Amino acid sequence: MPNSVLIINCGSSSIKFALLLKDQNFRIHGLAENLGTPNARIKGVTMGNEPVDIHIPNADHKEALEVGLSRIANHKPDAIGHRIVHGGKLTQAELITDDIIDIIRAATPLAPLHNPAHLVGIEATRRLFPDLPQVAVFDTAFHQTMPAHAYRYAVPKYLYTEHNVRRYGFHGTSHAYVSERGSELAGSYKKGGWLTAHLGNGSSTCAIWNGQSIDTSMGLTPLEGLVMGTRSGDVDPSLHSFLAKNLGWDIYKIDKMLNSQSGLLGLSDLSNDMRTLIEASEKGHEDATLAIEVFCYRLAKSLAALSCGLPRLDGLFFTGGIGENSAFIREKTLSYLPHFDFNFSKEKNDSLKRGTEGRIDAGTGPQIWVVPTDEEGRIAQETTLVVNQKMSTSNVKKSQAEITTA
Ligand code: ADP
Repeated sequence: MPNSVLIINCGSSSIKFALLLKDQNFRIHGLAENLGTPNARIKGVTMGNEPVDIHIPNADHKEALEVGLSRIANHKPDAIGHRIVHGGKLTQAELITDDIIDIIRAATPLAPLHNPAHLVGIEATRRLFPDLPQVAVFDTAFHQTMPAHAYRYAVPKYLYTEHNVRRYGFHGTSHAYVSERGSELAGSYKKGGWLTAHLGNGSSTCAIWNGQSIDTSMGLTPLEGLVMGTRSGDVDPSLHSFLAKNLGWDIYKIDKMLNSQSGLLGLSDLSNDMRTLIEASEKGHEDATLAIEVFCYRLAKSLAALSCGLPRLDGLFFTGGIGENSAFIREKTLSYLPHFDFNFSKEKNDSLKRGTEGRIDAGTGPQIWVVPTDEEGRIAQETTLVVNQKMSTSNVKKSQAEITTA
């Protein structure tokens, strides 16, 4: 049973890491950025609560982790959990082996920005800690319970059978954690029908029945669905050919526009950050006001659409930076869902302390809760589970071998 788990979330030039010490009661966080450049640095807060900012010119991922763990955490972990965006058809967290690495690599065309960076992180931690168990926890795994009518696109069948073109869904660790924790708070742990709205820089919704994902707003890639910080979410698929034919744009330019220049940023022409937009809107910025309105309307529309998959709606959970902290966005979104019989309590919503869990309905009808997400905690939990399973399997094998040789 690991006493400490190192959680790694690796980007192409950055690593977010967290060390969770026994029972997850204590955490140390670090961020390494600009890796491979002269400006590479690593920031964090040590066990003694000392802020650290270390310049590590041209350091790679391995070096950054070495420095981070020695100078920030001053601790060698017992196990490592990697957040992996795309796990193809894998349905659960897996101990990292060469075969699992091949599966992550094979899913690269489906997550070209994320999976190669995760592989760099795995390579670095394998070199740094060759003896430690390492586990891959996939954003996609929770959604593998979706029925075919939710995950198939209406395109020719061979694109699915030969090229894996289907809806996968993302933010799985967050939707799983929030729906479990939320249903527990509501007194029906992993029972009933719930909607989750994870609203951060990336945003998605999910419909959960008896603890299993049955539909979600993201699809083949994390671009589908809601309006996000810089991502457009749903657009008419013909937009691509319209831009190509009329403006002469190539596919890279279109992808970049839809992923990094759209969403709240594109609509407002001001910022991808919801706080900035709310402040600007209060001062009369019309495009910021419109961006917020489109965000909330499209979110409500997505929740209404996903509710079709639920035999019964027991309630809704808000999470993510926006969902946890903005009473204003929660209220505006719910104003577009009057037919859901939510008995929204403005007073409870407004008085809920930022970043805390709490119920924001008046006690009748489907429940509404704010549930702060804990993706790190969930990854540590899944990592521990996989490591324990591996240890008990190897113990069974050992005792079988002892019986045979006795
Ligand atoms: P990420 O997806 O990068 O993890 P977060 O979950 O931290 O992002 O969410 C970031 C978003 O949360 C930003 O748009 C930020 O403006 C928004 N946010 C944080 N606090 C508030 C707040 N009090 N009111 C409105 N938006 C907020």
